[in-house]
Amino acid sequence: MKKPATSPQAQQALLRVVLPVPLRREFDYLCPQPLPAPGCRVSVPFGNRTLVGLVVSHPEHTEFDLSRIKPVTAVLDDTPVLGGAERQLLAWAAQYYLHPPGEVYFQALPTLLRKGEPAGYKPVEVWHALDGDSAPLARAIKQQQALALLTQGAMPPGELAARGVTSATLNALAKKGLAEKRQTLPTPSDWRGEVTINEDGKPRLTTEQALAVSLLQQAEGFSPFLLEGITGSGKTEVYLQAMEPVLKAGRQVLVMVPEIGLTPQTIARFQRRFSLPVCTLHSAMNERERLDAWLACKDGSAAIVIGTRSALLTPFARLGLIIIDEEHDGSFKQQDGFRYHARDLALLRAQQLHIPIVLGSATPSFESLHNAASGKYRLLTLSQRPGSATLAEHLLLDSRHVQLEAGLSPQLQQLMAEELEKGNQVMLFLNRRGYAPALLCHDCGWVADCERCDAHYTWHKSGNRLHCHHCDHQRARPPRCPHCGSTHLVGTGLGTEQVEQALAMLFPQYSTIRIDRDNTRRKGSFEQHLEGIRAGKYQILIGTQMLAKGHHFPDVTLVAMLDVDGALFAGDFRAAERLAQLYIQVAGRAGRASKPGRVILQTHHPDHALLQDLANQGYRHFAHTALQERHQAGLPPYSYQALFRCQATQGEACREFLVPLAQQLAPALPASVLCLGPFSARMERKAGQYRYQMLLQASNRRDLASACRRALAIADTLPAARKVRWSLDMDPQELW
Ligand code: ADP
Ligand code: ZN
Ligand code: ZN
Repeated sequence: MKKPATSPQAQQALLRVVLPVPLRREFDYLCPQPLPAPGCRVSVPFGNRTLVGLVVSHPEHTEFDLSRIKPVTAVLDDTPVLGGAERQLLAWAAQYYLHPPGEVYFQALPTLLRKGEPAGYKPVEVWHALDGDSAPLARAIKQQQALALLTQGAMPPGELAARGVTSATLNALAKKGLAEKRQTLPTPSDWRGEVTINEDGKPRLTTEQALAVSLLQQAEGFSPFLLEGITGSGKTEVYLQAMEPVLKAGRQVLVMVPEIGLTPQTIARFQRRFSLPVCTLHSAMNERERLDAWLACKDGSAAIVIGTRSALLTPFARLGLIIIDEEHDGSFKQQDGFRYHARDLALLRAQQLHIPIVLGSATPSFESLHNAASGKYRLLTLSQRPGSATLAEHLLLDSRHVQLEAGLSPQLQQLMAEELEKGNQVMLFLNRRGYAPALLCHDCGWVADCERCDAHYTWHKSGNRLHCHHCDHQRARPPRCPHCGSTHLVGTGLGTEQVEQALAMLFPQYSTIRIDRDNTRRKGSFEQHLEGIRAGKYQILIGTQMLAKGHHFPDVTLVAMLDVDGALFAGDFRAAERLAQLYIQVAGRAGRASKPGRVILQTHHPDHALLQDLANQGYRHFAHTALQERHQAGLPPYSYQALFRCQATQGEACREFLVPLAQQLAPALPASVLCLGPFSARMERKAGQYRYQMLLQASNRRDLASACRRALAIADTLPAARKVRWSLDMDPQELW
């Protein structure tokens, strides 16, 4: 850390800095010459605190009184932690999302850098050989061998151990002054010129794959592609081959995956194909691992980077291609703080760097389908599975007027029994964990409700507790009704625990495994369950959507969704799109290998147009119809939305903020912008907070942005703003 010399005022110049504070502005400080370059960190006084800030420019003038501008406390970097291209992207993102710039920039930095730690790798221990008299080793063969090894080059203890050199041997050498353990910084690896591709296990491409690969390989400059490929059609193989020329040219590839998609199998697939440094970036890494991975992207040491949402904001030395797998996945949108959509920013980044970008999915988002239809993206289609893999048959089972046992109709039980008898596996989906979504008094009708939310407690029979899935509050199940004293408390509705229990009775000769968040909390237990399924230890699988994504189980021949009716009548206009995506993902679990599969949707609304469309015509057709409906209703992607959310311990405070905001905004709005609300959240109270929102919807982005800017300016003048927590969400993915 360099302390700025205490020099006379004359030699100080201005620095413009962003700070991690929720204010939509930059800050000016004084700093002695030579000034740290834009992108370097400084520490600065802010109120009575010291904050880490990031230099964005060297302004000539300031709008503030020069005599009151404070000097920086210290300069933290010699070279920028964020380069010019990254800063430009972040500045643009702050503008677009109308988010405080400091919070945007700091989102791009690993936690250790936010805290002001040096931007360097963790030093590693390495053994070095020292010059000296090796005569005393005459009879110590092991020490001689170890020394010979070290003479060829320094080596970390782990690698020495792998070659059979014990620490006792090394310590003996050290005692004799012939070797020494030192801390050194790892040198960035340069893998260019060493790109080899492992041809083993590289399949012969299908015609569709070959076309996709050749178009991707020929792509030059900014070229966005939508790779629409049914589950199991070999999208990953297309990514792998599209990457080849990019890597051979020495450029890096960023592969973005959903939170749940970053499995050891995914990483292993990339490692197996390329003998190159693969690095991962995700939220489960500790601070040090994250910084080291971040540095490897920035200095170019990492050839292939596989990461979740935040990987998009990482600096890259030579990024040559971006791939977004499962591009429709909701986890690419950040839902708090800086609410960016990594897919949307990825497109911008590709445009800025003049590189190709591929969005892949079996169920593309409507936004992306719309962009493909309008010619903004080039569409690549994989409509078939390679080899003998067959597509599943789809069935709608009417669950009206039949006796359901733990949610299973007799017909479904029959179909399950047939598959199980053939030695196949059956997979059931129910997106509700716990035993029952409500606990009710049979005598007086009392329902166990969460005190802090407008919601029922879910009853978990294991542990006999009530758990609110909205605020996470838990308590013991009461032995009797607090209202009438009856002990006759019963669960209503269906959860995975209950289905699991019923399956043990209905199919006692088969073993069942349940997979949901409750029984996969322990690290590694999810993988362990998956392993058990693959090994055939279980015949019946019951799980939530955790089980739906990307896992290959060749013996599953029947998958059934037990209850999707809730999603058919949800308030959110995106509910149908999400249901369809989940359905197709689930369907993709059946018939993956050579065995044909069946996909069953059990519903009380077998005539519902959406379900009919999905089961009979497939996702593409469904999306087309649903997009036409959105077009008629003027909903996104045919319009643009921004949502002001507000929460407080009193509902009144929210209204005191949002009502005048809407009132003052309305007269200033052009005809192209609609202001809806304020209205309360569907679940008005959550975790003790009342929640309200106001939606702006516009036919063009420019008008929407200026309406939002106007609203932000009004919000700053409202006294009630201090009594509530409020935020702006540009392109919201969900209403409250
Ligand atoms: P997706 O990502 O579209 O779900 P994958 O890339 O995971 O599909 O491919 C599904 C399976 O098919 C994988 O086991 C993969 O190795 C295999 N596969 C992909 N392409 C081919 C091909 N051309 N020939 C044979 N097998 C293939
Ligand atoms: Zn009662
Ligand atoms: Zn609650």
